[in-house]
Amino acid sequence: MKEILRSTGERAGIRLDDLAWARLARHWELVQEANSKFNLTAITEREQAVEKHYLDSLLALELLDSLPGEICDLGSGGGFPGLVLAIARPERPITLVEATEKKCVFLEECAAELGLSQLQVVNARAEEAGRDPALRERFPLVTARALAALNVLCEYGLPLLAEGGTLLAYKGAGWEEEVAAAANALDLLNAGLGESRLYQLPGGDQRCLLRVEKRGPCPEKYPRRPGMPTKRPL
Ligand code: SAH
Repeated sequence: MKEILRSTGERAGIRLDDLAWARLARHWELVQEANSKFNLTAITEREQAVEKHYLDSLLALELLDSLPGEICDLGSGGGFPGLVLAIARPERPITLVEATEKKCVFLEECAAELGLSQLQVVNARAEEAGRDPALRERFPLVTARALAALNVLCEYGLPLLAEGGTLLAYKGAGWEEEVAAAANALDLLNAGLGESRLYQLPGGDQRCLLRVEKRGPCPEKYPRRPGMPTKRPL
């Protein structure tokens, strides 16, 4: 696994040291083990995982490096992209917010085994995290993949961002419709779209990293109580 991760990554211009590639390969073993007990990912084939989980997560590295400071990854699941980014940038503090307790236990076990001492796991819903004074407005950068449509994601992520911060949304096909449907949420939450980046995975899948910029304070009433952002999207 380590060598195909490295060759696929390097072909896409991603340079990591040997320890990082080894840690990513070990993470995949841990995901597979846990996946036999509870559902972490529908992907089971190694080649698919390399491309659709690891390479996809790592595509944000360049953008990430241009946005310094503490990262918050929302709805990390098996660790995509949060734990993968933590492996690639072991010096950079990162907090993973995940609603499901057993996934949090898994993420903590991974961090301990892989020696990622800069990583913290918070077992909470994004709506709760956004109301926690220790977390609200704390992060210059929030990431999320496959968590919610952009309008919902804005309500989850923007309260956690410091003013001037960026929400980086990993999106696939259909992102244009999500952008169109998020105009009202962006308006209400004092945010705007930055320049997004388009990528193609080696298998041909289209990916888009959308940048949402926090331009002013997030009104106190957001995020609404758990469940409301998806029940009545802004
Ligand atoms: N980011 C991962 C997992 C996506 S699945 C990946 O791309 O592979 C969505 C994950 O978000 C699940 O693990 C689910 O438990 C978690 N989740 C769903 N709603 C959430 C919320 N409101 N706050 C935090 N986590 C949530």
